[in-house]
This record gives sequence, structure tokens and C-alpha cells, in this order.
Amino acid sequence: MNEDCIFCKIVNGDIPAFRVYEDEHVLAFLDITQGTRGHTLLVPKKHVENAYGLSEEDAAMLFKRVPKIARAIKHAFDPIGLNIINNNDQPLQSVFHVHIHLIPRYASDGMVLSMKDRQDEYGKEDYEAVRKAIKESLGH
Ligand code: AMP
Ligand code: ZN
Repeated sequence: MNEDCIFCKIVNGDIPAFRVYEDEHVLAFLDITQGTRGHTLLVPKKHVENAYGLSEEDAAMLFKRVPKIARAIKHAFDPIGLNIINNNDQPLQSVFHVHIHLIPRYASDGMVLSMKDRQDEYGKEDYEAVRKAIKESLGH
């Protein structure tokens, strides 16, 4: 429990939330913004700031619950698809208690979550340099 953390307060029941699922390790509740109908957050009950700080055990505990919540949202709202997103560090992350967004998508829902295709900017050496940078950082 981090005294200054809004999600710890929700986990603890100190402030209200629209709770949809809970077990020993995780809590899922509605994102207050409802970017789309059914937008849900999944958090570990244990305070960890973001994905960088998760132990493998904590990550497993958290991520293994994702399909259960995803299926429930799909069943409830019959979306055309579902985005699963995790923001880490400012300016992407606004609440520093790790959380996974489950965002059901609907036709014309006004959400803009698209990837850029930069294949035409990358040659074999570029991919290789990127691969090498990540590979060499593993374990650091
Ligand atoms: P992020 O930008 O990934 O850190 O997302 C944080 C999310 O937490 C935002 O989508 C907020 O709408 C949501 N949020 C903040 N406070 C609350 C709250 N009290 N109850 C539910 N969702 C919240
Ligand atoms: Zn917290």
C-alpha cells in the first residue's frame, strides 16, 4: 500500500470504484473516463509503479487475468475488437500503479490507437541494429 496512490486506495476500498473482478492478487474496475463503453483497468493489488518494476511472478499474476476480463467484456458488449494497453512512464502514464487498459472497440468509436508502418524507412541493417540494441540490453 502506497499512501499517495489512488489505485492503492481503490484496492483498499478507501475510495469508490466500479469493481468488476477481484481475487487475492488483482482487481479490475471501470476506467472513470470510459473512453469506450466497457473500458476497464486491471491492476495488481500490490503497489508496483509500472511494468519496468514488475517481478516475473507479479507480471504472471497480473497478465494471466487478462484473458478472463477480455472475454467478459467481449461477451458483455460484443465489440468489433479490443485493445490491451499498458502505459509506462510520463507522459504516457498518469497513474503510477501499474495497470492494464482493456478497451473494447466499436465501429466509429472515435478512438485513435493506430500504429505507423515505417517498413519503407528500414533496411536490413536498421532492423539488425535495433535487434542488437535490445538484445545487448537484456539482463541489464
Ligand atoms: P494511464 O494514463 O495509462 O496512467 O491511465 C490512467 C487511467 O486511470 C486513466 O485512463 C484514468 O481515466 C484512470 N483513472 C484515474 N483515476 C481513476 C479513478 N479514481 N477511477 C477509475 N479510473 C481512474
Ligand atoms: Zn498503488
